[in-house]
Amino acid sequence: MLASLVTTALASSSRRVSQVCGGVGRSSRGPLGSRTLWSTSTRSRTIPNTAGRSFAAAAASTAVPASPPPPRPSASSLTPRGVPTNFVKAKPRIVILGSGWGGYTVAKRLDKTKYDVRVISPANHFLFTPLLPSTAVGTLEFRAIQEPIRTIPHLGKYYQAKAHGLDSVNKVVHCEGIFKQNHFDVAYDYLIVSAGNKTNTFGIPGIAAKEVRGDRSSVLFLKHLYHARAIRNRILECFERASANNVTAAERSRLLSFIVVGGGPTSCEFTTELYDFIHDDVSQWYPDLQDEIQLTLVEAGPGLLPSFHQSLSAHYLQRLQQRKVHVKLDTAVTGVHDAYFPLNERAPTTSPNTNNRNKESDWEHEKIGRTYTVAKFNDGTELPFGMMVWSAGLAPVKFLEDCGLPLKRGRIEVDEYLRVPGSQGRILAIGDNAIINKEEKVLPPTASVAEQQGYYISDCFNNYYDQFDITRTDNINKDVPLPGNVVPALLPWEGKVFEFLNRFLSKHSPKFEYKNRGSMAVMGFGGGVVDNTNSDLPVPKVASSMSGLAAFIMWRSAYWTKQVSYTNKILIPMYWFKQMVFGRDISRF
Ligand SMILES: Cc1cc2nc3c(=O)[nH]c(=O)nc-3n(C[C@H](O)[C@H](O)[C@H](O)COP(=O)(O)OP(=O)(O)OC[C@H]3O[C@@H](n4cnc5c(N)ncnc54)[C@H](O)[C@@H]3O)c2cc1C
Repeated sequence: MLASLVTTALASSSRRVSQVCGGVGRSSRGPLGSRTLWSTSTRSRTIPNTAGRSFAAAAASTAVPASPPPPRPSASSLTPRGVPTNFVKAKPRIVILGSGWGGYTVAKRLDKTKYDVRVISPANHFLFTPLLPSTAVGTLEFRAIQEPIRTIPHLGKYYQAKAHGLDSVNKVVHCEGIFKQNHFDVAYDYLIVSAGNKTNTFGIPGIAAKEVRGDRSSVLFLKHLYHARAIRNRILECFERASANNVTAAERSRLLSFIVVGGGPTSCEFTTELYDFIHDDVSQWYPDLQDEIQLTLVEAGPGLLPSFHQSLSAHYLQRLQQRKVHVKLDTAVTGVHDAYFPLNERAPTTSPNTNNRNKESDWEHEKIGRTYTVAKFNDGTELPFGMMVWSAGLAPVKFLEDCGLPLKRGRIEVDEYLRVPGSQGRILAIGDNAIINKEEKVLPPTASVAEQQGYYISDCFNNYYDQFDITRTDNINKDVPLPGNVVPALLPWEGKVFEFLNRFLSKHSPKFEYKNRGSMAVMGFGGGVVDNTNSDLPVPKVASSMSGLAAFIMWRSAYWTKQVSYTNKILIPMYWFKQMVFGRDISRF
């Protein structure tokens, strides 16, 4: 009896754990399971740190509480308007990790009259990734391809932070703010993990070490906006340095050697964008350098665009070769290292201002100034380069390793309802960081999958999960019931008309149903490939695979119509027009 009372008290106090940082308070339970609002300043509790425990073990140890005694009415349990807080029903809190394709879609679509929706992400914007390669050379400007998270109407709260741990017993996410690395916790009723993944360097020597965040790095990833900005600055730095008077021939050729690693759509699209930049703009502003530029695309597999129909991959390869891009297939980068120019090329100098400087450090400075970076390949060859863009693989983000959730192939295992097994339907995972355990064919890590999963989950919450009162004490150990039928998001657009058409065109199911909407890859200005051979869209046979101008128009139209805000719907065509008529901007800052 005593033990049961202690368990009850502990469980009810742990349920009352409030978030240690941030605005609106957490809620407690009143009689009949309704919740009363309170302020975090008075009721915040220390949360026992159970992060890192296995999820199954953590779930198993959840205490089974009996109903807590009803609170006595007091002046402090009245709202500012004098309504007893017992009668103010708090909304269940949904915490979303990540503001990418999955997280942003859910945050936008969830019904905020039913849920308190909160987003935790180090990026305070949603990034429209398919257009990222265009910004890296200036075809588009950075701000035109992102949407600030805070512009989502009625969003409960946004925290610019990284989740670094999870306490699934107390239902709390441990976070680290990105500015001062301050630590705080955010409590949840439902958690949606959509933290994506990061670039994989496969432990190849020199890649991670050289990929330091900042403009002066010669090895760069292409995943976030700050990467695209660094790439653009680095390209321009290479051209400016190569056009200096005192540069040696060897150094110039090294600076003008650009390597792109990976044969997937991102690498191919970036290579063709870079080619267009060289062809259209460099030829005009750096005419002496144009003939010395070397563009190399390296792929470890036998072909480019492996997810596309073979004929389209072959077409893409052929077009790249016609553009004098050096495509190295079946070739892997085995390392990146520094080398030195021959000593006689430039002797260490003492500048007029060095009187007070240490001779040794001047020498070091000169030595570093004369280093150059070389890529080594598995065929034994080496290639000095001015910039390498590494887009060759994906790896799980650190949070996944630390969260204690069940993983399969580095991704969070979920059932066909995208719920983490053993979480009683309270933790869900979508997008690149999730893998459906029953599915024979693993879904690709694409925006289309993440977005469709976002649609599915938000429809489940808006139409079904709201009928289960997760805030009631007697529901604390019950599984959230499975959802009813949901309409798959077959058509890639939002709005009442498309939702009606989706209803009409797709079979409804309570489980998540992925619909293949086809694949597209652009080839700079005027070219591209579209593969609808396995698409679930009602595409006429004649349009099942396309290339050239038709594919290019389709690519641009599809991504333009998918823009979220009117601002970007206006800005993007303006930048396309500006680039076509006036060229790309070559200023570096
Ligand atoms: C350059 C590029 C071009 C692409 N082009 C296409 C394309 O044309 N078509 C296509 O279908 N797919 C494309 N993709 C792939 C597509 O972008 C991804 O599959 C998609 O973004 C996955 O969505 P997600 O929500 O799972 O992850 P993401 O969109 O990557 O979002 C993850 C979010 O989680 C946040 N995050 C990371 N760690 C944490 C943490 N610890 N705590 C909280 N938040 C965290 C990140 O900041 C980010 O906001 C492209 C990808 C890139 C990089």
